[in-house]
Amino acid sequence: FQMFRRVPVTLVRGRGTRVWDDQGREYLDFVQGIAVNVLGHAHPVVADAVRRQAEELIHTSNLVYTTPQLELAALLVEHSCLDRVFFCNSGAEANEGAIKLARRYGRERLNGAYEIICTVNGFHGRTLATVTATGTEKYRLPFAPLPEGFVHVPFDDVAAIQAATTPRTCAVLLEPVQGEGGVNVPAPDYLRRVRQWCDQHGLLLILDEVQTGVGRTGTLWAYEQAGAEPDVMTLAKGLGGGVPIGAVLAREHVAAHFYPGDHGTTFGGNPLATRAGYAVLQYVIQQDLPARARELGAYLMQRLRGLEDRHAVIRGVRGVGLLVAVELRTDAAEEVARRCLERGLLVNNLKPDLLRFTPPLTVSREEIDRAVEILDAALGDAPPK
Ligand code: PLP
Repeated sequence: FQMFRRVPVTLVRGRGTRVWDDQGREYLDFVQGIAVNVLGHAHPVVADAVRRQAEELIHTSNLVYTTPQLELAALLVEHSCLDRVFFCNSGAEANEGAIKLARRYGRERLNGAYEIICTVNGFHGRTLATVTATGTEKYRLPFAPLPEGFVHVPFDDVAAIQAATTPRTCAVLLEPVQGEGGVNVPAPDYLRRVRQWCDQHGLLLILDEVQTGVGRTGTLWAYEQAGAEPDVMTLAKGLGGGVPIGAVLAREHVAAHFYPGDHGTTFGGNPLATRAGYAVLQYVIQQDLPARARELGAYLMQRLRGLEDRHAVIRGVRGVGLLVAVELRTDAAEEVARRCLERGLLVNNLKPDLLRFTPPLTVSREEIDRAVEILDAALGDAPPK
């Protein structure tokens, strides 16, 4: 299948922020598997956890408990506002589970309400339900007929959520900061006001922290900065440090609406993935990597803003923690990313006019300096058209 416009490079090895291709060329990796490798490549914490677990127990059925699964669930519960955890394998699968849970809740608690309010430019995955929740028509429309029960309103617009709420509404689903939609950071009081509205109307607030979670935005969960707690939160990407894992976290009274047999997965929560997840999360917490993401994210943005004067093509720099974007005035992002690659920097051209930077939370100031130097040179060659 030709599903991606691939960057013409074949990677064979990585270490921290660096990767090497099959020609022996070294690159700084500011993509990191699209905001996945929070500890960078080949971190000993992840490698040891996976190696040791592989020698002990890789997979069991979900008909039994395993120690890594219980330990990771306990760690997630201890460090979040939520009480119950369901493990799966990806972000889409986590959101799929959250959507089913919201419908079950609506059926039993909200007179059969089933509609979920989502946001324009939100991104929740590629399965039929999650692509329908996703707020970009080009991802959805080719796959019609789509599941019913999703409405879209502009992001960062509480009044739009209020206007879209009907007796059919059971939940609001959104990202605290839109990742794939363009690194869109809402007003500081947005989530708090959405939370208030959900409380007034008995709606569930589902936060998709697949991209923002596990320290990336400068707190362990992005919701902490908003002063608003979700009823349901979905995770994936950073949680396994590169090992595929997803999770649905929910408050006790919400999780109680899933009954045995309602939902399941063969691989989800297996000992290998949950051991990796436990090692990563424990390390992120113990080393206070969210604080590091906050500090180095501010440094990265400051350095990128320093390029604005010299490169008129830069429209602006935005982000939170180490989820950062540079917006261009022209559709030159692909060309600039290609020039960066030639100079040894991997960066993601998220949109025609947008570059995204998601280095590991362990990135150093020197690596940021070098990445900004490379971008500077790439922009400087000839003004991108
Ligand atoms: N939710 C958000 C916020 C995401 O950024 C993504 C992926 O980019 C997903 C869900 C889907 O995750 P996955 O690709 O693991 O299915």
